[in-house]
Amino acid sequence: MKLTCDAELRPYNSFGVAARAACLAEIHAGEDLEQAIELADSRDLPLLLLGGGTNVLFAGDFPGMVLLMRNRGIEIDRESGLVRIAAGENWHELVQICLENGLYGLENLALIPGSAGAAPVQNIGAYGVELESYFIELELFDCADGSRRVMSREDCGFSYRDSVLKQPRSQPQVVCSLTLQLSREPAPNMSYPALAEELKGIAGEPAPQDIFEAVCRIRRRKLPDPAKIGNAGSFFKNPVISQEEFEQLRNRFCSPPSFPAKTGVKVPAGWLLDQCGFKGYRKGAAGVSEHHALVLINRGGATGKELHQLAMKMRDRAFAEFGITLEPEVRIIGANL
Ligand SMILES: Cc1cc2nc3c(=O)[nH]c(=O)nc-3n(C[C@H](O)[C@H](O)[C@H](O)COP(=O)(O)OP(=O)(O)OC[C@H]3O[C@@H](n4cnc5c(N)ncnc54)[C@H](O)[C@@H]3O)c2cc1C
Repeated sequence: MKLTCDAELRPYNSFGVAARAACLAEIHAGEDLEQAIELADSRDLPLLLLGGGTNVLFAGDFPGMVLLMRNRGIEIDRESGLVRIAAGENWHELVQICLENGLYGLENLALIPGSAGAAPVQNIGAYGVELESYFIELELFDCADGSRRVMSREDCGFSYRDSVLKQPRSQPQVVCSLTLQLSREPAPNMSYPALAEELKGIAGEPAPQDIFEAVCRIRRRKLPDPAKIGNAGSFFKNPVISQEEFEQLRNRFCSPPSFPAKTGVKVPAGWLLDQCGFKGYRKGAAGVSEHHALVLINRGGATGKELHQLAMKMRDRAFAEFGITLEPEVRIIGANL
């Protein structure tokens, strides 16, 4: 296990903000995990799990031990389509490897940054597909009592950008690996209008590789590359409102965008924030993407606190304007406003 004390966290979060942790442990194997937790216990340090750090905002320092999941390994059974992935694997590379092996289903989830282990935490989703459709089980290590167990899809309680693993806990639960069931037959999902539009030049049914490439093209056009401009993708979840609330919105705007949801109507948070004038907004080095009002960006040198303050301002404005509460999708750490 590689251990760093008083660790700088800037390289480990896609916002690229400066923050420090008392300790940072790189986890490559199960023994590393047990050793790191023992050490944290002996020093009374709280624990924080990180994969790629692409869905977190450090609004301040973390006065504990960061566990950086770096365990690797992908086992592919081409006959059955079962794929077992260690948590520290890169998600986008996994999507590519599955395609190369003739196993399909993950194409729509291409180019989502971060680790495989974090994918079930918020049931990652994009372009009409969510992880849960391919999920079989995961192996979990519970830092509270050192126990290990297997969780099925039902146990995980997946919903839109959520699962039981995302609930706050005093001691984290570590996803060590996950198993997916992919398909040997192409099963293109073009339910998302922008994706169907991107593929309309293709005669006949698009191949999985066409979908993969189309998703990558759309994402590169729409979203800033965290390697160049610090960001964590969509900062807020799309709110689900009641039919009544939606009617009120429709009385004000002739055709607000919406999608049907299990419990009401889903309205794009980016559209709401755009109506509040946040697209391209700047406050010092903290700002909002010119292309997408839902994406907060670090223009260079912004602090996590500044980005957090901006996010809270956006949330408050959206509530004042529409009476709709926006819930962060990004996990905020060390906030002390
Ligand atoms: C440009 C950009 C685009 C994005 N687009 C999408 C998108 O289309 N759809 C989408 O769903 N997300 C999107 N995201 C968000 C992010 O990529 C995903 O949430 C991703 O799964 C986070 O992975 P990570 O390894 O970086 O997680 P981290 O940011 O490191 O952690 C996120 C959370 O998961 C926990 N966690 C991390 N690893 C583990 C583990 N092994 N076990 C248990 N808990 C763990 C952390 O404690 C934290 O609470 C985007 C982000 C960016 C920067």
